[in-house]
Amino acid sequence: MKSKQRNNNFSAINRKDNLQTLASEVFDLLVIGGGVTGCGIALDAASRGMKVALVEKNDFASGTSSKSTKLIHGGLRYLKQLEFGLVRETGTERAIVHQLAPHLVLPEKMLLPIVKGGTYGKWTASLGVLVYDILAGVKGNDRRKMLSKTATLQKEPLLNPNTLKGSCYYAEYRTDDARLTIELIKKASSNDALALNYVKASEFIYTDGKVTGIKAVDELTQNEFNVQAKQVVSAAGPWVDLLRSVNQSKKGKSLHLTKGVHIVVPKQKLPLNNSTYFDVDDGRMVFAIPRGKVTYIGTTDTNYKGNLDRITVSKEDVQYLTNAVNNTFPSISLTENDIVSSWAGLRPLIHEDGKSPSELSRKDEIFISDTNLISIAGGKLTGYRKMAQRVVDLVNKNLDHAFSPCITKEIALTQDPLKNTKAVDEYLKKLEEQLASVGLEPYYAWYLVTNYGQQCDLILQKLKEFEEEISIALIRAELWYSIQYEMTNSLSDFYIRRTGRLFFDIKSIHQTIQVIQQDMQTYLQWDDQRLKEELATLESHIYDATNFYRTSVNTLIG
Ligand code: FAD
Repeated sequence: MKSKQRNNNFSAINRKDNLQTLASEVFDLLVIGGGVTGCGIALDAASRGMKVALVEKNDFASGTSSKSTKLIHGGLRYLKQLEFGLVRETGTERAIVHQLAPHLVLPEKMLLPIVKGGTYGKWTASLGVLVYDILAGVKGNDRRKMLSKTATLQKEPLLNPNTLKGSCYYAEYRTDDARLTIELIKKASSNDALALNYVKASEFIYTDGKVTGIKAVDELTQNEFNVQAKQVVSAAGPWVDLLRSVNQSKKGKSLHLTKGVHIVVPKQKLPLNNSTYFDVDDGRMVFAIPRGKVTYIGTTDTNYKGNLDRITVSKEDVQYLTNAVNNTFPSISLTENDIVSSWAGLRPLIHEDGKSPSELSRKDEIFISDTNLISIAGGKLTGYRKMAQRVVDLVNKNLDHAFSPCITKEIALTQDPLKNTKAVDEYLKKLEEQLASVGLEPYYAWYLVTNYGQQCDLILQKLKEFEEEISIALIRAELWYSIQYEMTNSLSDFYIRRTGRLFFDIKSIHQTIQVIQQDMQTYLQWDDQRLKEELATLESHIYDATNFYRTSVNTLIG
């Protein structure tokens, strides 16, 4: 049980104290991995009253949880694989996660063009998406609509009129995966969980043959220490099997990693009005999603055996996605030169003999070792809450004290939550007016609200202290916020996971790096060597996002 209230200011500024607490206390639950799964587990357990710690070897969401398609969806295509249970669970969860963070999980209509020789005909699309809506509990006006060819072309004039037969227009949600993960861990921390990034679990500690903690390494200093816990859960995503090997419990089912790539192009190059889910020649389907200044396209699905810590985009990945776009929107003529950013991530799926990447189930799987290590892998971003509930229910049974049942359905994810979409829209309007008065275009209001919700108030309050040109003052205020409240520990944490700028506004990195590096050096007291390393790491991320390899770098290293 929790012994005392901690100073739970979620900031790297408190790192020394937090590391000491991590090394000195005994936790009910220690979670390894700060992706959406681990952070969801930490929040569930902490909100039931357990004393929780979480360690993440890199930054929160630096694994798969910042590399997804960023949809909160039931997964229409899993219906074809008859995964009704999965579709019902994730479909229902969409609306719940939306209610928990309405500024971050936004309703998004999806257009599915019906084309000659495509995956869906008019009747199969109509029936399939209706079943999808029913399983997910979608009601009334939000239920799917079937559109004629003319109505479809009115919505999306760039579609190919020669192959188009009509479309299905249906409801989904979109999000920012990294921001969702960060909000989960902030909320877990405000429920007294102790979470630290840049702490790696290197080995397990055993008492009477059972796991009772880990040997940990502070990745910023290489200091080693032990963390003790009554129960350890590994939510290490693509690294789950590595930790099962360390635990000598990798038997039976194992992971099957597949790589998924997204490319990003300026909005002017692919100016879609709607998120679109369209056919590729090989029978798969990909998304094109307009977001702010860009449109992103993905994903691929290929077997992966390379380096887990550096996943790169190959020329073949780019060709696959640009061809897909050009076949569906023939006037666009997209080439590699149009791509302004990209990302590649790994799906930690469960291996099934003889199945191709796209045929593998997206269901989650829990492994319990003889030494009582619980590992969880697979699943979807969308289903994080139910996955967490299943794991914490198991933990609850193993502990000597029974904690209360899951309450995460009722826990809003931000400090000062906006209640619903109407409140988000009103707040957005207010911010647009406020920012217009200081010369900022509406994009900034949209960007701030969909990133931070009402937490913007703190950022805008701070903004007044900076005297530079307004967009520079704004990013300085954002950095201050993310240092004080979001455990930003590196330039890459800020530009990739806290603000998404590497993917969605890469130009702004070049425009702001001077002032941001100076501020970070001051806030986190970096010496010149640390700053040099930070700049080199950020540069390597920019390089990988904007350069495409003839042979995947992963296979060379791996
Ligand atoms: P991760 O996010 O990888 O987290 C695991 C963490 O563990 C990592 O941060 C890693 O650094 C850490 N770790 C590993 N080893 C250690 C150690 N020894 N010590 C400490 N920390 C450690 N789902 C959806 O619902 N919607 C989508 O649109 C969607 N699109 C997707 C598109 C692609 C291309 C991919 C790849 C996946 C997509 N998914 C989607 C699935 C979803 O992204 C994943 O299911 C989810 O992000 C997995 O989260 P995780 O926390 O299990 O793993």
